[in-house]
Amino acid sequence: MAPGKTSFGYAVIGLGGLGSAAAYWLSKRAPGEVLGLEQFELGHERGESQDHSRIIRLTYHTPEYVKFAQAAYRAWAALEDDAEEQLVVKCGELNFWPDRTTLNEDAFNRSMQVCDVPFERLSAADVTKRFPQFRFDGDIHAIYQPDGGLVGAIKANAAHRRLACRNGATLRDNMPVSGLRQINGGYEISAGGQTFEAEKLIIAAGPWTNRVLGYLGQSVPLKVTHEQVSYFASPHLEKFRPDRFPVWIWMILDNYYGFPAYGAEGVKIAKDRFAPTDPDTRSFDPDLTNQDELRQFLSRHLPEAVGPLLYTKTCLLTHTPDTDFILDRVPGHPNCVATVGATHAFKFASVIGQTMADMLQLGATPHDIAAFRFDRDRLKAGEKTRFEIDGFAEQQCAAH
Ligand SMILES: Cc1cc2nc3c(=O)[nH]c(=O)nc-3n(C[C@H](O)[C@H](O)[C@H](O)COP(=O)(O)OP(=O)(O)OC[C@H]3O[C@@H](n4cnc5c(N)ncnc54)[C@H](O)[C@@H]3O)c2cc1C
Repeated sequence: MAPGKTSFGYAVIGLGGLGSAAAYWLSKRAPGEVLGLEQFELGHERGESQDHSRIIRLTYHTPEYVKFAQAAYRAWAALEDDAEEQLVVKCGELNFWPDRTTLNEDAFNRSMQVCDVPFERLSAADVTKRFPQFRFDGDIHAIYQPDGGLVGAIKANAAHRRLACRNGATLRDNMPVSGLRQINGGYEISAGGQTFEAEKLIIAAGPWTNRVLGYLGQSVPLKVTHEQVSYFASPHLEKFRPDRFPVWIWMILDNYYGFPAYGAEGVKIAKDRFAPTDPDTRSFDPDLTNQDELRQFLSRHLPEAVGPLLYTKTCLLTHTPDTDFILDRVPGHPNCVATVGATHAFKFASVIGQTMADMLQLGATPHDIAAFRFDRDRLKAGEKTRFEIDGFAEQQCAAH
């Protein structure tokens, strides 16, 4: 990058998981022409993307999502090749289906069949035979999908940014974007007391999306919640390494989900809270009730994982009313693409970044992203998000 350069082919607002991926994929075709602007320090922990692991899975409730998840694996593999680093760990995935679920298991299974994704239906006894770490006391069965696993999120975000910089991208931290205006078909961007210009723009601002969209006169009905994950120091940690223990999700609306020991010397487990918050004034304090619920769940279903709490990490989650992403050109702005991860996008981070780069650089994407349009009915103002609707979720996806 030329020192003092202020005019770029492309700018990305927000360098969390999705924006970092966009900067990387843009930079591959436009070396030296990508500007990334992040309001906090790079790799900060105030948003949605910064933890050791996020679940990656092919188990989805529509064929379109399953196909996009297959493309996600390909994008991560390309990044791994470029970064010379393993970022995806295929430790297998168990989805537990308890009787009281409101999610539609048939929709998940049919979608995988349509896309030739192999999976097994396991009884509770089958699960405990294969993974003796689990205990069950109710009527439950599971779906096992061997390609599921985790993405090393902190490593993946760093890899996207590192390689974007290697391709000549300019990534600036502590640069909150505070104004946007269209000029000559492109954009003038005010950030951190400076002014930049870009011909084309990506908005990947996560929980702060509506503030940035507001500069373009747009908004979408998003809700932001305060979530947390906890790490427990199991005395039997060797039984919870990725070669012996899968990722798992309890398929109910406010679901429990967990990971093998990866990145920290503890078993990671979480339960959605869906506690509305403001991203600027949020608390970083853990919710102690949630911690207790996790300990009780472990005692009941994964007793050998129980040990001292290592730590709890809080973070934000951004919800759309229908749990589908936003991944589209901003209405009235053919040169600006925006994305919102809708509670389950980390596994797609690299392919979402690639898709946005394709849209701006090639004019089209090979993926079916019609469900993620700005103009869909469920994105109209006033729509409620899932945690605001009693009995919601037939066929809708679980978070994560
Ligand atoms: C507890 C938890 C568990 C999850 N588990 C999974 C999982 O297992 N699998 C999965 O696939 N997904 C999971 N998700 C969802 C996934 O992590 C998110 O969908 C994804 O990380 C969203 O990334 P993002 O880049 O949109 O948001 P963020 O990471 O929050 O990035 C947005 C960035 O934009 C910056 N920004 C905002 N406004 C401005 C501005 N004006 N100027 C400059 N910068 C700005 C912010 O500072 C931030 O860095 C989980 C999320 C949480 C919270």
